[in-house]
Amino acid sequence: MKTRLPPPLPPPLRMKGKKTPLRRCVGCREMKGKTSLIRVVWADGDFSVDKPGKAQARGAYICPNSECLKKAQKSKGFERSFKRNNPKTVIYAQLIMEVTNPCPNGLSSER
Ligand SMILES: [Zn+2]
Repeated sequence: MKTRLPPPLPPPLRMKGKKTPLRRCVGCREMKGKTSLIRVVWADGDFSVDKPGKAQARGAYICPNSECLKKAQKSKGFERSFKRNNPKTVIYAQLIMEVTNPCPNGLSSER
């Protein structure tokens, strides 16, 4: 006796076979999905947060939490990652503000 197997279910659409590329956090040095990290680039002589993640520049990544930021700051994670140094950089302060009080408009700190 023949029994027909039901057709296989289609895979869930949300993943669409696309894998999120992994990037290393400069703080905890763990590999994480690119989309769950904050991207930082070197531009115009300083580090800056690349919010859309589209800047055509070398990027470094960090987890959006203050623990990783502290670690990165202590070990000069971004400086080492870019082989650049800016003693006056505000990137760490900027990122800490970013993770501790996220502002939907991103404008409150600018004047
Ligand atoms: Zn981390």
